[in-house]
Amino acid sequence: MIEEKGILFILSGPSGVGKGTVRKALFNQDTDLKYSISMTTREKRPGEREGVDYFYKSKEAFEALIQENQLLEYAKYVNNYYGTPREYVEEMLELGHDVFLEIEVQGALQVRENFPEGVFIFLFPPSLEELKNRIIHRGTESQELVLNRLKEARKEIEMMDAYDYVVVNDDVNLAVKKIQAIIQSEHLKRERI
Ligand code: 5GP
Repeated sequence: MIEEKGILFILSGPSGVGKGTVRKALFNQDTDLKYSISMTTREKRPGEREGVDYFYKSKEAFEALIQENQLLEYAKYVNNYYGTPREYVEEMLELGHDVFLEIEVQGALQVRENFPEGVFIFLFPPSLEELKNRIIHRGTESQELVLNRLKEARKEIEMMDAYDYVVVNDDVNLAVKKIQAIIQSEHLKRERI
C-alpha cells in the first residue's frame, strides 16, 4: 500500500450552516487530520482565542501576506479578509498528513484551481428557512451584518454544483459520520499496491 502525499479536504458552505460546529465535532474524534487555522481581519468574538480559532491580523498585515503570496486562498467576506496560510498546508500535505480547511465558498473555488485533486465537501442546511433563522439569531452582530450574511448565503448556495460531495447538516453527529465516510472512501480510492 503506497500513499505518499496527504489529501486536502475542504469543508465549505453558506454562513450559518454550522461548518464550525461540524468541524469542531469532527476534530474531537479524528486526530489524524490537521486543521489549518485561518487568518482573519475580523474582530475576535467572545470566547475565541488567537492561534486556536484564528490568527487575528490587521488589514495592513493581511494585505502584506497577500503581496508576499503567503496565502493559498483568501476572500473578502462581509468586509473582512479571511485566508489560508499556504506554507502550513503545503508542508503538512508533503509530510503525508491530511489537511482540513473550513472556509467560505469564494475561497473554496480558488483552492479548486490550485488543488484540483482536493476533496470538496459542501455542507447543506436542513432547510433554507432554518439557515435564515440561524443567521438571524446568531445574536452577536448588527442588523446590517446579518443582512449581508443572508445575501452571501443565497449566493453561496448557488455554488453547490462545483463540489464533490454535498452533506446535509440535519444532525451534527450524522454530518460528522458522513464526512468520516468520505475521508475513508477517498483514501481507499487513492491506495495503490
Ligand atoms: P466567521 O466570521 O463566522 O468565523 O467566518 C465567516 C466565514 O469565513 C465562514 O463561512 C468561514 O468558514 C469562512 N472562513 C474562515 N476561514 C476562512 C479562510 O481561511 N478562507 C476563507 N475563504 N474563508 C474562511
